[in-house]
Amino acid sequence: MSINSMVEVMITGKTKLLGVIGNPIEHSLSPVMHNAAIATLGVDYVYLPFPVKPEDLQVAIAGFAAIGTIGFNVTIPHKQAIIPLLSEVSPIARSVGAVNSVWRTDKGWSGTNTDVEGFLAPLLNLSPSSQERDWSQTTALVLGYGGAARAVVAGCAQLGVQQVKVIGRSPQKLNDFLDSWLNSRLPVRLSVHNWQELPNLLSEANLLVNTTPIGMYPRVEESPLSADEIAKLPKGAIVYDLIYTPNPTLFLKLAKQQGADAIDGLEMLVQQGAAALQIWLQQSVPVDVMRQSLRRHLGLSD
Ligand code: NAP
Repeated sequence: MSINSMVEVMITGKTKLLGVIGNPIEHSLSPVMHNAAIATLGVDYVYLPFPVKPEDLQVAIAGFAAIGTIGFNVTIPHKQAIIPLLSEVSPIARSVGAVNSVWRTDKGWSGTNTDVEGFLAPLLNLSPSSQERDWSQTTALVLGYGGAARAVVAGCAQLGVQQVKVIGRSPQKLNDFLDSWLNSRLPVRLSVHNWQELPNLLSEANLLVNTTPIGMYPRVEESPLSADEIAKLPKGAIVYDLIYTPNPTLFLKLAKQQGADAIDGLEMLVQQGAAALQIWLQQSVPVDVMRQSLRRHLGLSD
């Protein structure tokens, strides 16, 4: 089946609603991949973007309940704010402190965070596979302490890495980040550092993750680290950039030139979406179609 026939979604009187809420929402790529999967499966659903202002969040999700919406994704700025409005929140979402996927149950809205699963998927597919890798001896260095960094820290804890070092530019925000994990019983040693400390931390970083927007379109000539800094990473280091456009980023190009394993953000985007769609549809979903639809949409080769 060609991608063009896959993106046709037939709306009927029984079509069930899925969607994504955020503000702004126009540049969300989620409708592209979800509707491609829905069309391929031939199920009677449609996935739409909904701009929702912070002050309208409560009424928006009450409205979704009233019209029988099956589920929805949640993006900036509602990922934290939606938590008190849900009747159930999964342990992983509680630990991350953010919800990105919501579905309707008899009790009301339930929420979880599939970003962690999305972040982990490409790491688990690396060769040698995760089962053979001894993550317990590894150190992860995370650039940035925003929303995505929270999913990365929780993911590193699930992998069983020995320690996670988070780099940020505001001492206050670094301390707040550290404090926010105090009650989560995170099974990993977590520390926070400023950017000046970065050169001294690189030689121990087996996994280096960029969660800042440095290098994201349109500032494609920027990289959070120079080639000389990347060269300080230990042999076999994995360099992971959560940015998916451009693809690859300058950061990942430099990392590849230095012989590192490079992972871009597209697979995380695909896998967090696939995990959510699986919850809503209660069936396995065509991950390849979701990936291919995004690659085509972004003008990347298949
Ligand atoms: P966010 O909450 O706004 O966090 C951004 C972080 O980057 C903050 O810690 C911010 O620090 C830091 N930062 C921004 N500009 C910086 C600079 N010039 N120098 C140093 N630090 C800087 O955003 P987010 O939701 O975590 O998203 C971050 C990135 O991840 C974006 O590029 C986004 O597209 C990507 N992402 C990808 C996926 C995926 O599925 N692949 C999922 C989520 C996010 P300050 O607070 O000090 O400014």
